Amino acid sequence: MGNKRKRAGTGPRPYKTERRGGPPRPPFFTLASTRRDFIGMLGAGLLLPARTEPDLILHNGNFITMDAAQPRAQSVAIAGERLLAVGSNDEVRALGGARTRRVDLGGKTATPGFIDAHSHPASAGLSHLREVDCDLRSISAIQQALRERAAKTPAGQWLLGFKYDDTKTAENRKLTRQDLDAVSATHPIFITHRGGHTAYVNTRALETAGIKEDTPDPPGGQFDHDERGRLTGGLREQATGPFRRLIPSAATREDRRAGVALISQMMSRTGITSVHDTGGGPDDLRAYQDALETGDLRVRVYCFIRQASLERMISAGVRTGLGNEWVRVGGVKLVCDGSISERTARLSQPYIGRPNDYGILVTEEGALYAAARQAHEAGWQIGTHANGDVAIDQTLRVYERLQREMPRRDPRFRLEHCTVVNDALIKRIKDLGAIPTPFSTYVYYHGEKMREYGGDRLNSMFALRSLLDAGIRPTQASDYPPGPFEPMMALQSEVSRTDIKGTVWGPRQRISVEEAIRVGTLNGAYASFEERLKGSLEPGKLADLVVLGRDPFQTPPNELIKIPIERTMAGGRWVFES
Ligand SMILES: [Zn+2]
Repeated sequence: MGNKRKRAGTGPRPYKTERRGGPPRPPFFTLASTRRDFIGMLGAGLLLPARTEPDLILHNGNFITMDAAQPRAQSVAIAGERLLAVGSNDEVRALGGARTRRVDLGGKTATPGFIDAHSHPASAGLSHLREVDCDLRSISAIQQALRERAAKTPAGQWLLGFKYDDTKTAENRKLTRQDLDAVSATHPIFITHRGGHTAYVNTRALETAGIKEDTPDPPGGQFDHDERGRLTGGLREQATGPFRRLIPSAATREDRRAGVALISQMMSRTGITSVHDTGGGPDDLRAYQDALETGDLRVRVYCFIRQASLERMISAGVRTGLGNEWVRVGGVKLVCDGSISERTARLSQPYIGRPNDYGILVTEEGALYAAARQAHEAGWQIGTHANGDVAIDQTLRVYERLQREMPRRDPRFRLEHCTVVNDALIKRIKDLGAIPTPFSTYVYYHGEKMREYGGDRLNSMFALRSLLDAGIRPTQASDYPPGPFEPMMALQSEVSRTDIKGTVWGPRQRISVEEAIRVGTLNGAYASFEERLKGSLEPGKLADLVVLGRDPFQTPPNELIKIPIERTMAGGRWVFES
């Protein structure tokens, strides 16, 4: 194990195969086709980048590499931001020079850094700075937290909250206008649900936005009313628009930079080294660059651009892939239907207990096609939010049509979430080479919501087993804030399919620890065209890795979440040390 490294003829040869899109590779990569060749070249004194002596050797470790040619190793050598060698203690130690630092991992397990392929870090970071975190266990606790903020907020100014979850409060009901009126009648209050697709407001906010009992619902949205026709303060999907337009987006450039710095620190503590921001815009791109410049960016970012900003980006000559190894322009983000955690995803079969509720389609097919075509023509990757089977079907139809009309080699269409699938949809996903990004932590964290989908349907939801068996490359994806982003929670959720209370949801979709790590590393790199750059521990790739307190292969599935993260490295630098 790990002492010899030979690439099998059929194994991946990431440095020799022809490039198919993605970022340009530095000359470094083209030289090193295998580690053996690479070491050979060191001896031969061939043209190489300046750094061939390792800065750092991590030895005496249990490296889970995700490299099929060498699944386990004891030691890695790092030069600058990259892995120089991966192998046995003896092999790698021999490479060290006088100025090489050495760290003994004491037998600890290390994996490639985790990649969260669907998340909202820039906006979440800003929310953590500016809003009340409503991830609390009772409505009265939420009211108390809001009251404290109200006391420090001038009357008339908006009071904002986020991460509220109706299924996690002791009262076991949704927030009402009256709950929020009891906090303040002088501040308009706007609380977003953890899922991000619904919101809750007080009377003052309704008055400020001019919404009355007889105001018609906007297209793709709904103002909730009680049985007597009175507004409850609940807003669904596009009904949040009239409020969002009034809330001043007073975030300064420094606020945004600080928000990114904060969230990247929170993520790196959990073993994440790369994140795909699946709802960014020009302000967020700038914030990531600003944080990088001040040395505060600890995770690499593949930044999707919201549809609203696409035209600006296209006319500036920008497209997917522009950037560097830390901040790169991702795809365009489109939205097809509602959310899983708020039970608004568009399903072919109704929600359990609500026979007439099939969820909401946010964008009709023609509009989705028009937006997707514009992006496809301009060379952008496309990621469309599609949760329910009806929405996935519609999104696939749009992608299939684009490939018929304007075939592009390797477009890597993405299905964001891709929650409820069936055999026919899976076949089409495979044929198209599309990438699903199912929620990784929902079974574990949002178990109580799964009843509304039903046990049967859960066997076709977050369907990693079926997707992997079909040869598709799904990713790990938190959708934070809607889902927690801790990779160890993702592993437990995906391997055990068991929620916090011990209820099993969709056991047919269980995958192995090995598969879950691959989903969370290499598959995430593939989803951003960066599989030759990261996602496994191989010479020439970025030195992004995480040292764990326990070996997940020796840990019972229901204890994976307890594995401590000891250190996280991104680009050869420790970005977190416990
Ligand atoms: Zn999302």
